[in-house]
Amino acid sequence: MGRIAYVNGRFVPQSDACVSIEDRGYQFADAVYEVWALFGGKLADPEGHFARLERSLGEIAIAMPMSRRALTLVLKEAVRRNRVSEGLVYLQVSRGVAPRDHPFPKTPTPPSVVITVSAVDRAASEARAAKGVGVITTPENRWGRCDIKTVGLLPNVLAKQKAREAGAVEAWFVDELGFITEGGSSNAWIVDAEGRLRTRDTNANILRGVTRLTLLDVMREEGLEVDERPFTPSDALAAREAFITGAGSLVLPVVSVDGKPIGEGRPGPLATRLRRLYIERAKATAL
Ligand code: PLP
Repeated sequence: MGRIAYVNGRFVPQSDACVSIEDRGYQFADAVYEVWALFGGKLADPEGHFARLERSLGEIAIAMPMSRRALTLVLKEAVRRNRVSEGLVYLQVSRGVAPRDHPFPKTPTPPSVVITVSAVDRAASEARAAKGVGVITTPENRWGRCDIKTVGLLPNVLAKQKAREAGAVEAWFVDELGFITEGGSSNAWIVDAEGRLRTRDTNANILRGVTRLTLLDVMREEGLEVDERPFTPSDALAAREAFITGAGSLVLPVVSVDGKPIGEGRPGPLATRLRRLYIERAKATAL
C-alpha cells in the first residue's frame, strides 16, 4: 500500500502530494514542525508535543491552523489511513503561500499544513540501542532561537551528514565556551564520572525536547537526581554513560564521542533502564 499524506485539508497519495513553489516554508523556512513517536498507532507524549507546537507557532506569529482537538483527529486519521502501528508522525505548518517577499504577507494567508506518517522497525531500533551509537562533536553554528522547532535545519543537516561520514549517528554541537548544547536531532545526556545524570538546561539555546521532559518526570519518579548543568566533550569522555533523547531515537545509548569510547564502549545500565522506562511510560500515556 502506498503512503497517504495530508495536505491542506485533503488526504492524497504521498507520491502526488505537493505544495506551491511559493509556499513560505519552501522559500524562507518560514514554518515549524512537530514529530510524534507512534506506539501501537497512538501518539506518544501528546500534551508535550501539542504545547510545543503552539509555542513554536506563537513565537513566529502563525495561528494554530485548527483547534488541538481537530488536529488530533486529523493526525489520528493520517495514522489510520497509513495503517502504521510503530512509527513517526510528521506535521509541518508554514505561514502559507504568497508572492516572494521577506516580511509577512500583507494580506494574511492560511497556514499550509502537511502531515506524513512513516513506519519504524522497532526490532531494528532495539538492536541499535543494544549496541549503542557513536556521536561526533561539531562547532555550534545555529541561530539564537533553537527553542523554536523551525524547519530551518541546514546546520543540523550538515552536522548530521558529517556524523554519518564519520560512521556516527549524531553530532553534538559545542558552543563557544566549549559546552555541548544538544544533538542535530536529539538532546544530549551523560551519567558523569560521579554517577550524576546531567543534561543542558533549557535556558540555553536548545530545543526543549519533549522526550527530555517526559524522561525528567520518569527520573523524578524513580528518585534519580538530575543536574541540568552543561558538560564538555571531555566530561562526556570521562563519563560512565551517555545517551540521547528524541521522538526518533527515544532514549538511545551513546558509546563513543569522536571515535573514543565512553567507559567500556558499551551501553550503560542506567541508559538501558531509562530507555525501557521511557517506552513503558510513552505506551501507557499515548493518545
Ligand atoms: N533537539 C533537536 C535539535 C531536535 O531536532 C530534536 C528532535 O527532533 C530534539 C532535540 C528532541 O526533541 P523531542 O524529544 O521533542 O523529539
